[in-house]
Amino acid sequence: MLDQNTNTFQSIFYSCVEGILVVNHGVIELANPQCEELFGYTPGELNGMRIESLMPADLRSNHEKNRLAYDSNPEPRQMGVGRDLVALKKNGDTFPVEISLNVAQVDKKNVTVAHIIDISRRKEAEKELKRSEEQLLKYAAELEQRVQDRTRKLNEAIEELKKSNGELEEQMKERVKAENEARIALEREKELSELKTRFVSMASHEFRTPLSAVLSSVSLIGKYITDENKDKKLKHINRIKSSVGELTGILNDFLSMDRLDAGKMNISPQTIVICDFLNEIAEEMRQLMKSNQKLELICEHPEAQFSTDTQILKQGIVNLLSNAIKYSPEGSVITLKVVVESGYLTIEVIDQGIGIPKADQKHLFDKFFRAHNAAHIQGTGLGLNIVLKYLELINGEITFVSQEGKGSTFKIKLKAIENE
Ligand code: ADP
Repeated sequence: MLDQNTNTFQSIFYSCVEGILVVNHGVIELANPQCEELFGYTPGELNGMRIESLMPADLRSNHEKNRLAYDSNPEPRQMGVGRDLVALKKNGDTFPVEISLNVAQVDKKNVTVAHIIDISRRKEAEKELKRSEEQLLKYAAELEQRVQDRTRKLNEAIEELKKSNGELEEQMKERVKAENEARIALEREKELSELKTRFVSMASHEFRTPLSAVLSSVSLIGKYITDENKDKKLKHINRIKSSVGELTGILNDFLSMDRLDAGKMNISPQTIVICDFLNEIAEEMRQLMKSNQKLELICEHPEAQFSTDTQILKQGIVNLLSNAIKYSPEGSVITLKVVVESGYLTIEVIDQGIGIPKADQKHLFDKFFRAHNAAHIQGTGLGLNIVLKYLELINGEITFVSQEGKGSTFKIKLKAIENE
């Protein structure tokens, strides 16, 4: 155990890290070396000085009042609770302090013992902390501002997106609407086209019957004419006959075209004696010839048989003969020449008509094409196209040679179709 003598307490007093002042009624009785160093005084210099001289002038009078109040009721306590205490150095500098007060009896005198700590560092650290705190708050505020800015921009972008989405939807709607309109228009067009086809088909059928009645009646009238104007009347009758023939031809073309386009053609082969078959056709066609035109049939093998779709073949031959009649002058000769050989049938239609200009020849089988020298003659430009398509259906092909002003030869060649 330490000896509680004066030396022990002196050692504690002098070695204590805190500054210690012993004050009696405001006068400094004793200061330890740490206290002298704290305030910048030389050893012993503080002794006898008034305690107020260690604080800034503006605080002194207030301190005196507090000190007197303390002296009348002394007790150990912290000084300046709730406010910052400031001390004054000898050189006039001030610094923050923390002071605790105690009461003691020294030499039978009541004295106040003040423990003083320089809290400059702590204050500095506090300030630093505050600064960091402020910076942190500033940073947080900045961050919040940035977040707000971003959110605003994001909202703007979303709005923009919604708007363009809306526009896109609008465009889609318009597109769908346009597509619907186009589909409806297409359906209408289809309906119209079907209607037209049906009409053409119906009209062709319906016109043909009365026309053939007109034709046969006119032929009969021709036979019964006896008076002196016979030739003139016959001329007119022939004109009616050829006009009706032309009309029938046009209607036949329409009808054939319609059937071909609709794919309605059924192939049904039959075996026939080809010369007999052609004779019948020739006889029919002679009815439609111009005056003094002649149609001769050359059959190299009169008994020869051939198997094909006779209806389709007839249509083809009738078409070629009609053209030969139509594009040849009165009094000219038309030849129908037939050869059957090695399962092949070759039929040539030879005329002495207007011929076909060289430049037009390559387009001759195009739909609606008509040669330049045929402009003044009735026609649709469909017949040869129909013949071509007919022949394709029955294994046939067609070629021609022609010289303008001299005549034309159309030649069809087909392979027999076996009966089932
Ligand atoms: P259309 O005779 O109705 O005009 P076609 O398709 O039968 O139609 O014939 C196409 C064209 O070929 C005719 O317009 C005509 O110019 C020419 N043509 C066809 N056959 C002959 C022919 N025998 N002689 C001269 N020209 C012809």
